[in-house]
Amino acid sequence: MVVFVYDTIILDALPSRSDRRLTLIHRSLEEVDQELTALGSRLVTVIGDPIEEIPQLAEMLRADLVVASHDDEAYALKRDAEVTRRLAATGRKFETVKDHVVLERAEVLNNSGEPFRVFTPYSRKWWEIVTPADFAERDPNLAQLANADSLMGVAPGNRTMAEVGFTDTDLWLTPGAKGGQERLNNFLTKIARYGEDRDIPGIEGTSGLSVHLRFGTVSIRECFRAAMTSETAGSRKWQTELIWREFYQMILAQFPHVGQGKTFKPETDAIHWPGTDEHFRAWCEGQTGYPIVDAAMRCFNATGWMHNRLRMVVAMFLTKDLLVDWRRGEAYFADLLLDFDLASNNGGWQWSASTGVDAQPYFRIFNPILQSRKFDSEGKFIREWCPELRDLDNKQIHWPFSDDGARTLETPSDYPNPIVLHFEQREKAMALFQAAESGR
Ligand SMILES: Cc1cc2nc3c(=O)[nH]c(=O)nc-3n(C[C@H](O)[C@H](O)[C@H](O)COP(=O)(O)OP(=O)(O)OC[C@H]3O[C@@H](n4cnc5c(N)ncnc54)[C@H](O)[C@@H]3O)c2cc1C
Repeated sequence: MVVFVYDTIILDALPSRSDRRLTLIHRSLEEVDQELTALGSRLVTVIGDPIEEIPQLAEMLRADLVVASHDDEAYALKRDAEVTRRLAATGRKFETVKDHVVLERAEVLNNSGEPFRVFTPYSRKWWEIVTPADFAERDPNLAQLANADSLMGVAPGNRTMAEVGFTDTDLWLTPGAKGGQERLNNFLTKIARYGEDRDIPGIEGTSGLSVHLRFGTVSIRECFRAAMTSETAGSRKWQTELIWREFYQMILAQFPHVGQGKTFKPETDAIHWPGTDEHFRAWCEGQTGYPIVDAAMRCFNATGWMHNRLRMVVAMFLTKDLLVDWRRGEAYFADLLLDFDLASNNGGWQWSASTGVDAQPYFRIFNPILQSRKFDSEGKFIREWCPELRDLDNKQIHWPFSDDGARTLETPSDYPNPIVLHFEQREKAMALFQAAESGR
């Protein structure tokens, strides 16, 4: 029997009752229920705390064994340990299995038997030890599925969104395994160009599969197998990005303090970030006076999605230009990101803030104007999300001010002044890190 718990410990903590991720989960479960119905079974969904719900359900259905996939977030580890304990008290077993990554936890270690702290040697080792069996799907024994008639006592089927306590929202992507498959097939037609196109936010050069990978509506093993059918540099690059995902999952499992508000690099924990609430708010609202940052944040607020290049640009801008604590940005992303995943989000934020696994030192500081010129050279993305800048030429659109940030005759009247100047803030950011490094 297949069970899904709408976990109220997680749901009650969400800031909004109209959350796109709930709509996505809900519609994906409709698909699962339809598929199980076609096989003569049904999906079972319950709403509540899993440590109560799972043992109760196992009791009602006289299930000897409950199986779930591994989850290395601190909350999940604690929850799973408690479910194991409660099931064991009634003679039942709880097993978790690897599913959401190809290689996990302590499977990829360096020659001294320790976890890697840097990506490139990790990925080299990853390729050394992975075997074809790691990319194969398990064959579930569908004959063992409970017959729908035997489930009557437990109200089979999906709950309604109202029962779950959320309102339905619009979705711009097709949910479920159908949506995942469509997206993967579509991406395979352009995977060869991934290396060239992946950094340009104005075109659809990436797969857009992160949401499906997050919710398990596409298999990570299938993504690798599909990519391997294309022997192109683009495909190899894409597989490297999939391994970044594995890397961050490993970092969370092996260095759990990163998921508990601590920096990966201990010396950076001491940094006191002086950024103001006012600057943080301007960043959230896309009103910083930096067109590429504002376009990215407005797109994010409207869709729950942001291109990887822009995630790096806005994260670096918040931490190294506005000097705001990366944890505030991490939390803002966690609230809104459709593909929110603690390991990748934390990894991306700590990488950008130079408190994490970046092999480069803290003086990697993006200049947002140069990033804009390089990756949105014709201002296509900026024009889409900052309509007030639409009529500027391709040179002005990246910085519609004079060099020292003053307004010019061309600056659109409804566009905000730059809230800081990059060349000044860069020096302040360097000083913060230097002080932390020398223990001041
Ligand atoms: C500050 C910040 C926060 C981020 N938060 C998340 C998050 O919460 N969830 C999330 O899935 N990704 C996150 N990322 C990574 C990355 O931005 C997204 O995975 C990517 O933009 C998703 O788009 P795509 O599916 O088109 O990626 P593609 O370019 O098609 O890449 C394929 C897959 O590889 C994985 N991947 C690609 N780049 C990365 C990366 N840098 N780190 C980890 N995995 C990667 C994703 O699963 C992605 O779907 C974050 C990055 C940064 C800089």
